[in-house]
Amino acid sequence: MRINSDTQLTGVIGYPVKHSLSPAMQNAAFHALKLNWVYLAFEVPPERLREAVSGMKGLGIRGLNATIPHKEALLPVLDDLTEAARQIGAVNTLFWDEDRLVGDNTDAEGFLCALQEAGFEPQNARALVVGAGGSARAIVYALKQAGAAIHLCNRSLDKARPLGDTFGIDSIYPLELERLRPILSTIDLVVNCTSLGMEPDTGSLPPIPLEALPSHAWVNDLVYRPPRTRFLQYAESLGLNVLGGLDMLLYQGAAAFTRWTGETAPLDTMKQALVSAL
Ligand code: NAP
Repeated sequence: MRINSDTQLTGVIGYPVKHSLSPAMQNAAFHALKLNWVYLAFEVPPERLREAVSGMKGLGIRGLNATIPHKEALLPVLDDLTEAARQIGAVNTLFWDEDRLVGDNTDAEGFLCALQEAGFEPQNARALVVGAGGSARAIVYALKQAGAAIHLCNRSLDKARPLGDTFGIDSIYPLELERLRPILSTIDLVVNCTSLGMEPDTGSLPPIPLEALPSHAWVNDLVYRPPRTRFLQYAESLGLNVLGGLDMLLYQGAAAFTRWTGETAPLDTMKQALVSAL
């Protein structure tokens, strides 16, 4: 597809942003559907965020993704927020609703799609969410929406408590092996929402005694660099069901693609592009 005066512009804003896999994934999707659209990475320092949003409005950029450190800072500068963005307290996708620029959060939807496609049904399940940062908020919101019971553990309890207050979490634990062992036999799903195990620190993993889980349990690691973390390898060695973070990345991107274009996202093409980009 040649870039010309009809080409529609989308992209991602972050700081830094050069590591992003989204340009490879979204451009492959546009190409597959023969859409004359392009997706670029914009490195926007925090002090230029408002100008970036004004620029998007002024230039009629069709959609943006947002990543660290802009996800929370975008909340007050948009015309409207979806219920997901409002409750999670973070925006990862900007789209137009007629002339209003709306902030959405497709992480929750991406997480649920990835789980359900893998074969896990969250309704009435008991989940242990590990972490209390930005991604944990999206996962807790998603699991609540899906009707799961949620337990949460985090290194810093003072960061975990606000999630308990906002979302009505069943119980909160410190991230300590022996404190977690007694509840694990009742858990169907463990989700790692910490950065433990992420490159370059691939040798680390959350201190969760996975051997105490029932044999039907699932372990989902949101970390996708590397795609098979040490935590997942540990779960696999116990015969548990595992899911890596790449699928959530794919489905959150697919949801953003649909918000912008109105088209069904070409998932196979997007996944292939992600895997090659990694
Ligand atoms: P964040 O907001 O910075 O939160 C980081 C979390 O990790 C906090 O709970 C923090 O605990 C915990 N943590 C960090 N270092 C730790 C350590 N040494 N020991 C114990 N806990 C530690 O990060 P985030 O945005 O939630 O992202 C977390 C991970 O999810 C990243 O690897 C990110 O790439 C991944 N992610 C993946 C997707 C996807 O689509 N697959 C989407 C979003 C995020 P404290 O509160 O105690 O500091």
